[in-house]
Amino acid sequence: MSISLHGIGIGGGIAIGRAHLVSQADIEVEHYMLHDADVPAEQARYDAAVRHARQELEQLWGSIPENAPTELGAFLSLHIMLLNDHTLSKEPRDLIAHERCNAEWALRQQLDVLLAQFDEIEEEYLRERRNDVIQVAERIFKSLAGHDALSPLPVPNAGDGILVAHDLSPADMVLFKDSQYVAFITDVGGPTSHTAILARSLDLPSVLALRHARSMIQDNELIIVDGVNGVVIVDPDETILAEYRARQTLWAEKQSALQGILKKKAVTRDGIEIELFANIELPDDSVQALGNGAAGIGLFRSEFLFLREDDLPTEDEQYEAYKQVAEAMGKKPIIIRTIDLGKDKIPKWQEEVDTPNPALGLTGIRLCLAEPQMFRTQLRALLRASAHGKIKLLIPMLSHVGEVKQIRKHLNEVVAQLKEEGVTMDEHIELGGMIEVPAAAVSVASFLNHLEFISIGTNDLIQYTLAVDRNDDSVSHLYDPLHPAVISLLAHIIETANHMEKPVSMCGEMAGDPNLTRLLLGLGLRRFSMLPAQLLKVKQQVLSTDLGKIRPTIDAMRASGDAEELRNLLVKLNS
Ligand code: PEP
Ligand code: MG
Repeated sequence: MSISLHGIGIGGGIAIGRAHLVSQADIEVEHYMLHDADVPAEQARYDAAVRHARQELEQLWGSIPENAPTELGAFLSLHIMLLNDHTLSKEPRDLIAHERCNAEWALRQQLDVLLAQFDEIEEEYLRERRNDVIQVAERIFKSLAGHDALSPLPVPNAGDGILVAHDLSPADMVLFKDSQYVAFITDVGGPTSHTAILARSLDLPSVLALRHARSMIQDNELIIVDGVNGVVIVDPDETILAEYRARQTLWAEKQSALQGILKKKAVTRDGIEIELFANIELPDDSVQALGNGAAGIGLFRSEFLFLREDDLPTEDEQYEAYKQVAEAMGKKPIIIRTIDLGKDKIPKWQEEVDTPNPALGLTGIRLCLAEPQMFRTQLRALLRASAHGKIKLLIPMLSHVGEVKQIRKHLNEVVAQLKEEGVTMDEHIELGGMIEVPAAAVSVASFLNHLEFISIGTNDLIQYTLAVDRNDDSVSHLYDPLHPAVISLLAHIIETANHMEKPVSMCGEMAGDPNLTRLLLGLGLRRFSMLPAQLLKVKQQVLSTDLGKIRPTIDAMRASGDAEELRNLLVKLNS
C-alpha cells in the first residue's frame, strides 16, 4: 500500500524513481559492559551478524544483472573479501572478550583503528578503500540491529536514482553535485539550510525534514518526490503514478515556456530596469548562471572550495578557481564572498573545534580575522584573479564597523605586497559587505560609509532577527520572511542604501523566491542574486509587475504589524 510523507519542498518539480538509501558517515553506537558469563553469547551474536552480512553480499553477487557495469562485481567481491578478513571477522570478537563490551562497541573500536590506519596510507587507491571498510562495517552494524543492510549498489539505474538520506552536510552535497541522482530527500533540514540551498542549486526535486523517511523507505523501492508541494509518495499505485506523470509533463511544459524570456531584459511594465545575478558555489556553476541569463555573479560562496579537501586550498588553487569564473563571465561583474566558514559549513580541518554555539561563534569574517594567514592568502588569490575580470569582494557576517577597518588594512597591505612583486590586479577592487546580522542592519548607514556596496543575506538575517535556527526543522514554522520585523529591517536597509546612492542587492533565498519578487521591488530593491535555477521565474515576475500599481498594497504591507494580514496582502500583491 502506498504511503505519503510530508516535509519541506525545495522545488525542482517532480521525480519518479527508485530509492537509494545512503547512510551517515558517523556511526553512533551504544556501549555497555557484559558479565563474564555473557561473553560467549555476545561473540556468537557477532558471528551471526557477520554471517548474515556475508549471505547478503553473496545474494547480491548472484543477482548482478548481465548488463551491469563490471565495477559492480569487483565492488561486491572486495566487500566480501573485507568481511572475511580477520580484522573485521575475528578481532572484534577478541575485543568483546578482552573488554567485556557489547558487539557494536567492539566493532566501533575496531573500525576506528582501521580507519586511522587507512588515513596513514599514502597510496591513493588504497586510501580510497576506506569507504569500503565503512560500508562493510555498516552492513554488520545493521545485521546486529536485526535489519537488512543497505544495498551496496550505486545509483540503481542511471537516470532514476533518488537519494534518501537522514541528513546531508554541505560537504556531502558538494560530492552529489556530480552524481546522477534525479531527486533528493532527507529526514532533517530547514528551508534555508545549506543543504537546502545546494539541493535547490541542483534544480532537482527535493524534500527535506521528512522525519523518518529513511527508516520507512526500502532500498530500490519506487517513490515519487514532489518538490513543489513537499510530498513523497512511497510505493504509489497506478492511478497515483498516472496523476504524477501528468503533473510532471505540465511542469516540464512550464519550464520550457520560461525559456521564451531568456533573452529579454528584466524590466518592469513601467520601465524600471532590474539586475538579476546568480549565486554560485563552485566555479563550474557559472555555466548554469550564464545559461539562465545572469547579469553577473552576485554571490560566489567561496568557502565551498574549502569544504572539498582535507587541507586548505593553496593560493594558486584558489587563484585558478576565481580566474575560471572571471574568464567564464567575461565583462560581467563577479562578487566573490570571502570565506564564510563556521556554523553549518565546517571543513574537515575544523571538525575537531568544539564551539558551544557555532552560529554565534567564530564564523564568517570573525574566523578570517582570527586566522589572518588564511585570509590574506585568499585576498592574494582574489586580487591576482581580478586581472582577469570584474571581481568585487564581499565580506560575510559583519557586525562591527571596526571589522571593515581591519579588513581594509589587510587589503591595503596585500595590494602593496603584490605591487612590489609586480603582479597585475585591480588595485581599487570594490569592497562590499553582507548585511545579515541585525546589528549591521540597524546601523547600516555606518557600514555604508566604509563600503562600496552591500548585499542583504536574508537567510541569516531572518535566523538572527527571529532567533530561529535556519537548519532546525523543528522550528521551521517560525522562520518567517514575512515577519513584520523582517520587512521593516529590509525596508530600512534598502532605503538607507538608496538614499546614500550606494548599490544594494539581496543574495539570500528571499531574492530567488518569485512569490516575494513584487514585495522586494516595492521595497525599492533593484538588484537580486539567486540560484541560477530561479532566474527565469523571478524575471517572469519582474516583467509582469507595474511598480505604480502595486504601491498601495506595498504601503499597506509596510504599515501592517500582523503576519496573517501580511500573508493575505501578499496574495493580493501577486494576483
Ligand atoms: C544569507 O545568509 O542570506 C546568505 C546569502 O549567506 P549564506 O546562506 O551562505 O549564509
Ligand atoms: Mg549568511
